[in-house]
Amino acid sequence: MKTDIEIAQEATMIPIKEVAASYGIAEDDLELYGKYKAKLSDELWEQVKDRPDGKLVLVTAINPTPAGEGKTTTTVGLGQAFGKMGKKAIIALREPSLGPCFGIKGGAAGGGYAQVVPMEDLNLHFTGDFHAITSANNLLSALLDNHIHQGNALGIDTRQILWKRCLDMNDRALRNIVVGLGSKAEGFVREDHFVITVASEIMAILCLADDMNDLKERLGRIIVAYNYSGEPVTAAQLNAVGAMAALLKDALKPNLIQTLEHTGAIVHGGPFANIAHGCNSVRATKTALKLADVVVTEAGFGADLGAEKFLDIKCRKASLKPDAIVLVATVRALKYNGGVPKDQLKDENLEALKKGIVNLEKHIENMQKYGVPVVVTLNSFVTDTENEYQFVKNFCEEKGCEFALSQVWEKGGEGGIQLAEKVLETLENKTSHFAPIYPDDMSLEDKISTVAREIYGADGVTYAPSALKSIRKFEEMGFGSLPVCMAKTQYSLSDDQTKLGRPQGFEINVRDAYVSAGAGFVVVLTGAIMTMPGLPKKPAADSIDVNNEGVITGLF
Ligand code: ADP
Ligand code: MG
Repeated sequence: MKTDIEIAQEATMIPIKEVAASYGIAEDDLELYGKYKAKLSDELWEQVKDRPDGKLVLVTAINPTPAGEGKTTTTVGLGQAFGKMGKKAIIALREPSLGPCFGIKGGAAGGGYAQVVPMEDLNLHFTGDFHAITSANNLLSALLDNHIHQGNALGIDTRQILWKRCLDMNDRALRNIVVGLGSKAEGFVREDHFVITVASEIMAILCLADDMNDLKERLGRIIVAYNYSGEPVTAAQLNAVGAMAALLKDALKPNLIQTLEHTGAIVHGGPFANIAHGCNSVRATKTALKLADVVVTEAGFGADLGAEKFLDIKCRKASLKPDAIVLVATVRALKYNGGVPKDQLKDENLEALKKGIVNLEKHIENMQKYGVPVVVTLNSFVTDTENEYQFVKNFCEEKGCEFALSQVWEKGGEGGIQLAEKVLETLENKTSHFAPIYPDDMSLEDKISTVAREIYGADGVTYAPSALKSIRKFEEMGFGSLPVCMAKTQYSLSDDQTKLGRPQGFEINVRDAYVSAGAGFVVVLTGAIMTMPGLPKKPAADSIDVNNEGVITGLF
């Protein structure tokens, strides 16, 4: 069997201007990055913004195994299938982070015969957006430390600095550091921290901003520290906004690439779904809705994380209304949720499947709470048995849920026709009554409790005293109407990654909370989740290489 990267390297791409032309985009509205990648110009948005929107389909999943369950693969394959059926469809995805690329999970370009290309470019530096975000983030850190060094006119309390440096890398050694060591000229000594770029507030801001004006306003609102009187100090007060925005000028524009079958894919922004809000940029999604009749997009990890935040943060804030949700399940993840160890997931095990399917059940119920029609799809693996397939299919039918098998990994768009037909049927026959799970005017504590009880199935929420103090302070500061951005393990509906299936009788433990005033949400850290991941004992980086001809191997 060929690896993802081998399949991607064998693909014949067509020039990106031809892909663009198939959506009516003129060459003048492309900013080319070589032959196969382009950014979409600001002028394009001006031309299309008054057109009616296409239908919006969100792809989400059950709680995954560490390898991922094929949301990106399904998203890409579904887009390809629509293409095969002569529908005008486009895909809207996130840009991959280097963290998982070199860590456990690998890249994020899809898999098998459902991928976007050029896969290596996308997984590595792409059009430089993440580098720009990292630079803007660290410019703010540099300006902050310099402000203190130059006399600290704003009276910043160095014990209450909130802003962290960032890097797009899994590097646990940078979680807690000391900066400013040395002589007087080397600045003030203080504790600092790194987060991974995809958890940075700048990433969230870029993904939620409508345009340059909105981007600047949001950057200005970032709270970097408190002063000696306990009042917030913002990026605007440090005069950081103009320079940061200049660094982000091009990163703000969505990127266009293609699938293996030349469907367009707008790939832009990439916050993680466990420690950030987990969706591609609003700008990309809105542009996609103007260019095609159907937009297929993905939110990260299981539906308890990515979909919840897609619906409660992104759709709420950007006034988007999803028309259908595709919920991806795999036999292996259901068995994993039924307690089977990672190395035995290939063997038929109906007992474990029965035990684990409660996870799918909970996610179906959750998505129905948002009023959006759901289609469950089984992402087929060659190791799945007929009995296992029948079991999942029957389960969905008994639940009165639309179901389709997806074989896009093996067969590309052709393998997604059954799913695409189900989705089209759903779009035609069912109406979305989308509403977020909590209203804006609920208190932050009640919002957290609503997500914990309704979505995770928890009995309640317990707070570390400092976390509760912070949350009450945010209310007093006027941030009570913001949505909450829950940071939680992706492996469990609870905040304990060992509780699989559909855990019951547990509490959600809130450890810390901070306000992302620019992004417009309050981040709530639960369990042991970290905003700077580490590498595993045998990282994927061990197997990655490039030869003298520039051909990369080992990326997946
Ligand atoms: P997600 O977006 O849910 O994290 P991906 O689509 O990125 O998952 O897929 C994760 C990995 O699993 C990729 O390496 C992909 O090639 C592989 N994969 C996905 N679907 C299948 C399948 N049906 N059979 C075999 N491997 C698959
Ligand atoms: Mg993915």
